Amino acid sequence: MSQAPESAFHRWQGRPVVILGLSKTGEAVARYLQAFGADVFLSERSEPGPDAAALRDRLQAFGCAVETGAHSEQCLSHAPLMIVSPGIPPHAEILQRAAAAGIEIISEVELAARENRLSRRLPIAAVTGSNGKTTTTTLIARLLADSGQRVVACGNIGLPMISCLGDNALEALVVELSSAQLAFSPTFQATVAAFMNLTPDHINWHGSLAAYEAAKRRLFTGEQVPTWAVVNADDPASLRWQADLPEQTLWFSRRDPHLGQKRAHAAFLTADGQFVFQRDDCPQPLGLSAADLKLKGAHNHENALAALSVAFLMHAAGTNTTGQTFARTCREFSGVAHRIEPAGEITRLHAGGVTRIACYNDSKATNTDAAIQALRAFSPQRTILIAGGRPKEEPLEGFVEAIQTHAAAVTLLGEAQPRFQRALNEAGYSAVYPCDTLERALDKAIALSQGEPILFSPACASFDQYQNFEHRGDVFKALIAQRQATPTPDAQPDRARPSCL
Ligand code: ADP
Repeated sequence: MSQAPESAFHRWQGRPVVILGLSKTGEAVARYLQAFGADVFLSERSEPGPDAAALRDRLQAFGCAVETGAHSEQCLSHAPLMIVSPGIPPHAEILQRAAAAGIEIISEVELAARENRLSRRLPIAAVTGSNGKTTTTTLIARLLADSGQRVVACGNIGLPMISCLGDNALEALVVELSSAQLAFSPTFQATVAAFMNLTPDHINWHGSLAAYEAAKRRLFTGEQVPTWAVVNADDPASLRWQADLPEQTLWFSRRDPHLGQKRAHAAFLTADGQFVFQRDDCPQPLGLSAADLKLKGAHNHENALAALSVAFLMHAAGTNTTGQTFARTCREFSGVAHRIEPAGEITRLHAGGVTRIACYNDSKATNTDAAIQALRAFSPQRTILIAGGRPKEEPLEGFVEAIQTHAAAVTLLGEAQPRFQRALNEAGYSAVYPCDTLERALDKAIALSQGEPILFSPACASFDQYQNFEHRGDVFKALIAQRQATPTPDAQPDRARPSCL
């Protein structure tokens, strides 16, 4: 913090601010503002568990006022500015009351963007969309770092953006933005902003699909328009917005090899799978083919196209050498944990010999669209799918269809079981095995596999049985490690029993 610009002291000294939410984000904001002398009041509605209580004590020792267990009237009387943690939805009563009282409510990333504008002026690459954000953000940061820029990946990826501003060595920020963050970020402006896709996720949080789309769209249009927008030519939402997008918009497509003839700025795959980046109608083949990527699945071609585009546009002095460096980074990039992550191979011994079963952890697939992409990633091979958890209010037709095409069998767990099973059975798909726990679902999947890979791609949130998707994925990997230590004896693969409950 001592390295941060002095002017921040003038901005914040003695200024009252309310922070809502005793979270990692809330802590980062409190520390930043408190260090510049602000009068911080942090309020958390829930009673703290042991971790949160320890965090509260640390912040109090640092000089912040912290209340837990309820939002008192002080939330509304302390300050005209409120910084809200991303977990709190806009319809929360406290936010409604704060808005009615004329309090300005902003996100942590909005605060960070304002602070950056006033002091650091670091260029910002921003990535949003329903799926592919973390993979793309991580790859952009890797591409820029490998080409010699000092950058950090932050935001929704897990590192609050505000805590990066004190690092004077940084030359650019690569920020993953969720729609929850964008909903309270009215002036966040990126140098290059990428939009991956829009699917009906997070509707509970926003209240409607229209509100969800509006939160995403704001980063690309109106006052927040970036210097460059990078949008998905295969995504209907991006096409809907096109009249409002800036002149400097780069379109990317994994499906249209002729995109370069239709758009001046484009990134696409040729018919034989070669990556091309094109600016001002000038195509640059990268010497990189889709088959070169370690990442599984066509959706990852999309992520690589978006990441390359953003990296080229952030890299003002891009040369052929930059293209070669970028191509090498893409070839070496093996993805991010919990996204179709290779989780090891299980050996099953049986009378006929040994069956080796590759296992993949895709715990991050918290909606059906992500799970569909994962299933397709294995095509033409079929998988044994493990799915379920806390379901979202999404139509299931596409998911059921992907299972019919790409899964030899499905084991189900969690609250989604009855809904998923009904939808599959109604579609005439009967290789469905409800199991109560992940452990049983995995053992059933091992018994079912005749060498097909096991794909844990839940298509659901994790909160019915786990703290979050990382916890769920770690449990899955630990179970695989246990099964690897003790090869599973099983005389016959078993596709007959309907249930393992
Ligand atoms: P996010 O951060 O947006 O949740 P991730 O990069 O973490 O995205 O990927 C989460 C899951 O979404 C992956 O496991 C994969 O199944 C799916 N996914 C990744 N990229 C895409 C994409 N471009 N289109 C559709 N689904 C994707």
